[in-house]
Amino acid sequence: MAPFLETSIEYLKGVGPARADLLKKELNIHTFGDLLTYFPFRYVDRSKFYQIADIRDESSFVQIKARVIHIQSVGAHHHQRLVATVSDGTGEIDLVWFQGIKWIVNMLSPRQEYIIFGKPAIFNGRWNIPHPELEIPSTQPLILSEIIRPIYNSTEKLKSKGLDFKGIGKLVKTMLLNDKFNVPENLTPDIIQRLRLINRQEAFVNIHFPQSPELLKKAQTRLKFEELFYIQLRLAKQRFGRMLKQAGHRFLKVGEYVNQFYHHHLTFELTTAQKRVIKEIRADLGSGNQMNRLLQGDVGSGKTLVALMTMLIALDNQFQSCLMAPTEILARQHYQTISGMLSGLKVVVKLLTGSTKSAERREIQEGLLNGSVHLLVGTHALLEENVKFERLGLVVIDEQHRFGVAQRAKLWEKNVVTPHILVMTATPIPRTLAMTLYGDLDISIIDEMPPGRRPVVTKHVYEPERDKVFRFIRDQISENRQIYYVFPLIQESETLDLKNLIDGYKFISREFPPPHYGVSMVHGQMKQKEKDVEMKRFLERKSQIMVATTVIEVGVDVPNASVMVIENAERFGLSQLHQLRGRVGRGSDQSYCILISGYELSAEARKRLSTMVRTNDGFEIAETDLQLRGPGDLQGTQQSGILDLRIADIVKDEKMLKYARNVAGEIISKDPSLSHSENDILAHHLRNMDKRQQNWGLIS
Ligand code: ADP
Ligand code: MG
Repeated sequence: MAPFLETSIEYLKGVGPARADLLKKELNIHTFGDLLTYFPFRYVDRSKFYQIADIRDESSFVQIKARVIHIQSVGAHHHQRLVATVSDGTGEIDLVWFQGIKWIVNMLSPRQEYIIFGKPAIFNGRWNIPHPELEIPSTQPLILSEIIRPIYNSTEKLKSKGLDFKGIGKLVKTMLLNDKFNVPENLTPDIIQRLRLINRQEAFVNIHFPQSPELLKKAQTRLKFEELFYIQLRLAKQRFGRMLKQAGHRFLKVGEYVNQFYHHHLTFELTTAQKRVIKEIRADLGSGNQMNRLLQGDVGSGKTLVALMTMLIALDNQFQSCLMAPTEILARQHYQTISGMLSGLKVVVKLLTGSTKSAERREIQEGLLNGSVHLLVGTHALLEENVKFERLGLVVIDEQHRFGVAQRAKLWEKNVVTPHILVMTATPIPRTLAMTLYGDLDISIIDEMPPGRRPVVTKHVYEPERDKVFRFIRDQISENRQIYYVFPLIQESETLDLKNLIDGYKFISREFPPPHYGVSMVHGQMKQKEKDVEMKRFLERKSQIMVATTVIEVGVDVPNASVMVIENAERFGLSQLHQLRGRVGRGSDQSYCILISGYELSAEARKRLSTMVRTNDGFEIAETDLQLRGPGDLQGTQQSGILDLRIADIVKDEKMLKYARNVAGEIISKDPSLSHSENDILAHHLRNMDKRQQNWGLIS
């Protein structure tokens, strides 16, 4: 028989097959255990009453104590509703029922005072509370455990089956009161004692039905810690395992290629940040362990150069390298940059993409196998079966969030010794998030721009001021500058998006007509060839304006472009805006970013735009983004499992996250495989979590 918490939810008293089905579909609750971790999203203090006059918010539940002054049935048949007006002396509000009207009419007594609980809404300019909960005030004082009441999220379908927040609460209570209810502890006595945590069962009881505000707090602390701790424990274990087991090629030499390049080809001094990062990388490469490093740095901070120097170190040690980019445009650009920088050196660089001709493809494949090709730049094409290296020592991946982990693994499946991995990303990830997401990667940060860069001047303007923007664009073009003009993806449908862009293109073309002006356009549905033609036209300055969707977001480098105009800027996320802005400011001239929006802006959109205007610092922007949106929407978090956080919040609980990380690291450093008997409990729980995740994978 399944342990209590693994029992199917169907068998909980009050559930049954139909409700069980709904609980699975709507809330992903399959077992008693799932219900146990379906935490209230807030709590209401039952000893406190709201005054009707103070109600002006639709978002939260209120509890009022009021007398019925008027009962009336309105409308007919299907549209019938019952309206009971109540007053508490400060004001009046309508209670409204659409269902169960007969029963309510019988139950309601005029003049009677009730405790009313529900969520206010505005209808026809009047406040009302639909389907409130009513209770006659008791002459008995509330017993302690009933003062704080849990509120659960529910859905319309569940509500129609009697499972509103209260119904769900009842189910939880039924479960907690069951004789067999038992939650096994999953932390060691040592951790519990050191952190003065309450035990697990007590925490679960109090998170649902708090005995007191203090115990609620303790329950939250305990469960948040547990959640963060297990994420960190897993990461620490993986990381340690990799360090122990994953032998890497040892690159000890810094030789001719690096020296030649550094002393004779590099026309500028490395920034302090670049030097520091290269040092970190060299330490990895020489350690005998496989490097697995994330290189973060804003657009233009000089990551590609660091990658190139790393590849040259590999070459000095007789190893080949490859660099994988997410798009063809980017791969080509990397190829050109790298070939350019290496010209004069005897390094053989090749480009391999989906559009490489088969004759050339064969030639490259041969060159890789016999070692005559040193560096290979390309797209997903690098992952193909027949791309094999003689001695692959290093893989550089640009903009890693576009590649799945499984895809990456493909690259080194082919090798006996896993090559070193350097992942580059221009999407700054806040440290808290990086700690949770990439605990198994080491992180290097370039937090300094090459000298002489001028921060992009950013302005927010409203749509009626577009004429001013156009005037500014004309001025810039007359100074031989070029312009990006970005339209957002607005619709779900690709055809409509395209229409939106093409309308924009026509509009811009009318404002900037030939022969004086040339306007290019790229979007996601164009063939690669067409895109390349348009990009080339822009690069060669045959067009001055590039109308685009966000396809230009990543990596494209046109140093002469000095203005980025973004229409409907309020529709973009912060990190996306920042990425787009990174397309300009790549030369030494002053660059500009103009954000155009309508007048009507949500508070959040306003904050996004003002943040963009205020700062160019990618890390600050990422932090703000994380605070505004939560981690769920940030790039790269989707497959990480961080979405599954039930109670902890990596922004609000940053301190606890760090603490959990330290505790986990300490345990793993003493007992890397968790084989000491005092850690049995941790090993056991970790295995259970893995098992559950696998099951979940099968179900979904
Ligand atoms: P990223 O890949 O981080 O976007 P790149 O490596 O493409 O940045 O560098 C952007 C530009 O800055 C390139 O033209 C590069 O040659 C130049 N650059 C890189 N490092 C330096 C430096 N230390 N000093 C001056 N220019 C640099
Ligand atoms: Mg780059």
